[in-house]
Amino acid sequence: QSQSQDSFDFFYFVLQWPGAYCDTKQSCCYPKTGKPASDFGIHGLWPNYKDGSWPSNCDPDSVFDKSQISDLISSMEKEWPSLSCPSSNGMRFWSHEWEKHGTCAESELDIRDYFGKALQLKHKLNLLNILKNAGIEADDGFYSLESISEAVKEGLGFTPGIECNRDSAHNTQLYQVYFCVDTTASDFIECPILPTTKCGSQIQFPKF
Ligand code: 5GP
Ligand code: 5GP
Ligand code: 5GP
Repeated sequence: QSQSQDSFDFFYFVLQWPGAYCDTKQSCCYPKTGKPASDFGIHGLWPNYKDGSWPSNCDPDSVFDKSQISDLISSMEKEWPSLSCPSSNGMRFWSHEWEKHGTCAESELDIRDYFGKALQLKHKLNLLNILKNAGIEADDGFYSLESISEAVKEGLGFTPGIECNRDSAHNTQLYQVYFCVDTTASDFIECPILPTTKCGSQIQFPKF
């Protein structure tokens, strides 16, 4: 194998729909700063290999040091909220993401770049707007998987990966959207490999 721990081929930039996270867990917890906006939140920026595998936890010596991202915290609270229980201020989620995924991109990005680039990608993308322009809204309605993919292809120029989960009534619903970005986390690219997903052909976009 020619893979080494400090290199990777591209990133998955992964957004989560809070309505679907909360539906499935049945017990999500809003952050201490209050209910997040009705918008996609960042889940992570994940180094990946072209064959679909990925490195993880690459540098146990690199701990999450929030003093290095202090100027980003207020944006991260808005754009990267943690919905797991118990209610948190995001630090646990962000440090998990840094240690599991971010440390595998240290050859390209330091911790400040890692979080800063993720925030920039979210702003560049404006997924909620792309979907809205195609008539796709979080209204508990069902949309074809195809129409969601097509809307992103039109609005962004690249095909996304779409991951679903199930609500308590067992409907498949829009949970996470995967975008591919180059190794400096500056530009969206066509995905070398799409993640395998478990969506039906019609999926619900739950309210939040
Ligand atoms: P799950 O089992 O819920 O799909 O994923 C659990 C965790 O594995 C994710 O939160 C993420 O940390 C990691 N993961 C899952 N799929 C991928 C992938 O395709 N690429 C990378 N880099 N990480 C993944
Ligand atoms: P599975 O055997 O179901 O493919 O994976 C078992 C566990 O390993 C899951 O938590 C999954 O997220 C993780 N996993 C699967 N493929 C990879 C990979 O390429 N890299 C890493 N780091 N974890 C993986
Ligand atoms: P992953 O390993 O899949 O990148 O990240 C999932 C981990 O982050 C889990 O341990 C999960 O409990 C934690 N986590 C904290 N807040 C959130 C959240 O809002 N969404 C998701 N998907 N995971 C969260």
